[in-house]
Amino acid sequence: MAKVEEKIENGADGDVVVMKFGGTSVAGPEELKRAAARIVAAREEGSKVVAVLSARGKTTDELVEAAYEISERPDPREMDMLLSTGERVSCALCAMAIHDLGHQALSLTGSQAGIVTDSSHTKARIMEVRADRIREALGDERIVLVAGFQGVSTESKDVTTLGRGGSDTTAVAIAAALEASVCEIYTDVSGVFTADPRIARDARKIPVVSYEEMLEMSASGAKVLQLRAVEYARNYGVPIHCRSSFEDGPGTLVVPESETMERPLVTAVTHSTGEARVTLSGVEDEPGIAGRIFGALAEANVNVDVIIQNEPLEGDAGADLSFTVDRDDLKTAVDVIEGLGGISDGVRTDEQIGKVSIVGAGMRSHPGVAARVFEVMGERGINIEMISTSPIKISCVIQADRVPDAVSGLHEAFDLGADATFPEDPTGEHRPTVRP
Ligand code: ADP
Ligand code: ASP
Ligand code: MG
Repeated sequence: MAKVEEKIENGADGDVVVMKFGGTSVAGPEELKRAAARIVAAREEGSKVVAVLSARGKTTDELVEAAYEISERPDPREMDMLLSTGERVSCALCAMAIHDLGHQALSLTGSQAGIVTDSSHTKARIMEVRADRIREALGDERIVLVAGFQGVSTESKDVTTLGRGGSDTTAVAIAAALEASVCEIYTDVSGVFTADPRIARDARKIPVVSYEEMLEMSASGAKVLQLRAVEYARNYGVPIHCRSSFEDGPGTLVVPESETMERPLVTAVTHSTGEARVTLSGVEDEPGIAGRIFGALAEANVNVDVIIQNEPLEGDAGADLSFTVDRDDLKTAVDVIEGLGGISDGVRTDEQIGKVSIVGAGMRSHPGVAARVFEVMGERGINIEMISTSPIKISCVIQADRVPDAVSGLHEAFDLGADATFPEDPTGEHRPTVRP
């Protein structure tokens, strides 16, 4: 039996299990009580349980909106004070529900749980998990509930948050610190699919996916698992089991590539409509300029995704440089560029862009995949505005309103739909033990 399954099956004999519930899974009283019942069931099976909870429903979106109603550029420290409240509410309420089910539960903020981060507000990185308090509570036979998405900077002593979707990362980091047998991510879909099931109606659940492919999927918009959570899981060898909080049955296992089966050419189509493009025209064409621009953006903690630069045709004309950033970072990016003063003739922005990508370890050794992607776009009359590739991913930036069409076109062209011959784990080796 493969290593991962052994670990997961051992989950019921006193090992630690980390269970994370997303916003929809704790949205109302019904959902919250259902999550509490699942947590208690795992405890009654014999596992020591740490549950990481997200803010309820759309709470985080509402808090962000409230901040922007007050201020155009909310102070990042205060933003974190505000946003971190959502997950605390979920944990306190869930502890009450667990008490009613006859078990002892202890709810902790990220800071109380020992989640130590750097000081970069609204997108902090976890530096360390000082899990003594969690261990102590587990030793006292308690169920521990940890508020996801937040930590504390030991440098500034301030509360920080980990970026949208960050509760996934809290869960994986705690699983790594406690050497948990598995990190279960309970969400509103039954696993990781060949495309966002909200867009591709015939998308299929992928039984097992490698960390490498999942990293590319998360990086290119599959928000079902936060990118940093997958990175952390890969670095510490934490198996992730992503599954539904509303139905039973196995979800998707995310494990090392050596423990996956031979892949089809393309594993999934992903998309994102959360980015914006910045175009600088007439950029001075001399060594060091790109370093200055992207160095300044990195300094301001702005993540840059796709970059394109065209050499000027005429000797003394400036170059055109375009890049994409998270839409939330657009204002900061423009401020940074303007702050560099006179580096280009003009700065334009476009918020109407989207990105579609295909991801698959199989494409490493197969030529012609990119050509097929471009043909599909052409057949559908979709204009490709930027392209970027990695050995296992091809991304195209297109107009945002064409994203659904591009996703379904690629999904169909690479045979990822319901009728496709996607390997279903014929040996049964990768079937995780299913907690009810
Ligand atoms: P949670 O609140 O539980 O963290 P998220 O909204 O962050 O849930 O992530 C789950 C959502 O991710 C799903 O509802 C789905 O629309 C979206 N999603 C995007 N791409 C995929 C994919 N490839 N497989 C599954 N879900 C995906
Ligand atoms: N509540 C946060 C968000 O909505 C974190 C999370 O749910 O993972 O992004
Ligand atoms: Mg999420």
